[in-house]
Amino acid sequence: MPLLRTAYSLLFALTMVALSACESPQMGLRPAASGFDHDGPEQRLTNLTALDQRVARVAWRLSTANTDLCPVVRQSAGWALHSAGQYSAEMRSYAESRFSLDGDLPGVLSAPSGSPAALAALETGDVIVSVNGERMTPGASGRAAQFEGLAANIARLDAAFARGPAELSVRRRGQLISTRIQPVSACGYEVQLNPSDELNARADGRRLFISTALASFAQTDDDLALILGHELAHNVLRHRSWSETGGEGRTVVAADCDPRLCADGNHERQADRVGLYLMARAGYDPAIAAPFWRRFAESNWRVRYPSLAHASAGVRATRLEAVQAEIEAKRASGEPLLP
Ligand SMILES: [Zn+2]
Repeated sequence: MPLLRTAYSLLFALTMVALSACESPQMGLRPAASGFDHDGPEQRLTNLTALDQRVARVAWRLSTANTDLCPVVRQSAGWALHSAGQYSAEMRSYAESRFSLDGDLPGVLSAPSGSPAALAALETGDVIVSVNGERMTPGASGRAAQFEGLAANIARLDAAFARGPAELSVRRRGQLISTRIQPVSACGYEVQLNPSDELNARADGRRLFISTALASFAQTDDDLALILGHELAHNVLRHRSWSETGGEGRTVVAADCDPRLCADGNHERQADRVGLYLMARAGYDPAIAAPFWRRFAESNWRVRYPSLAHASAGVRATRLEAVQAEIEAKRASGEPLLP
């Protein structure tokens, strides 16, 4: 997508780099107006779908390769799901006709290779109607975009997988078919792609977020694994905890923690280090980390300089080279790849 990349390189000069900023207010939604403003709704849907599928593929590998290190583990089908109800009015009709979506019913957006969803022969365009005989809720039609209806259906599927293998009834090209999912253990964090022009990724103890702008800047799956690995590391290191009552993640600083160790800058340094291990354990190439940060600094002056939480891109690149050498030494000596 060279055209897309050219347009994005112009955006980099204008957008803010946060890499741990506030959550987008459009969490879980597929708005018409942000992320791909230079294209029409049909092309925006194509761009968004391609990015969603890349993010799902990388997230699946990171989640299954690092289950032993994740504080939260769940039984997963490895798929990415979406619904018509998530899309803005402008994009919804295209999403409905392209993916046979119907209200809040979960549609398979991606079934990454090797995942239980792929092993059950599920494919993009399948719509899940029920699990173990329990029907998914279709929701009301004609509403403004919202994520809650799909989230409730996903919770039903997760609850079924927590009990073991599950029977799914799936609508494919107008026909109902049945299939059995054998879920596997994976890190228990949803990974969400947020349509946004901000170069931004974050973790909140329950989910990982990456903006469309940053996912587009990540040219390869290795680049994407570097970014998502860093965010997963924040959750692995328990830097963020999820408050069910507060409904948001917060940065954890243990009462007895030495402030020099628990300072935000140190959290970022730790997440860079552990994140590189997490990507390497998932089979991605840690050697891309330093060049990625140097390339990022070339296209965005903001990461060239240190901020309150982050060292400069150059310093991060140099530190990551040292971590990469550490990983290579462990591999050469046959030591387990543990951070
Ligand atoms: Zn971070």
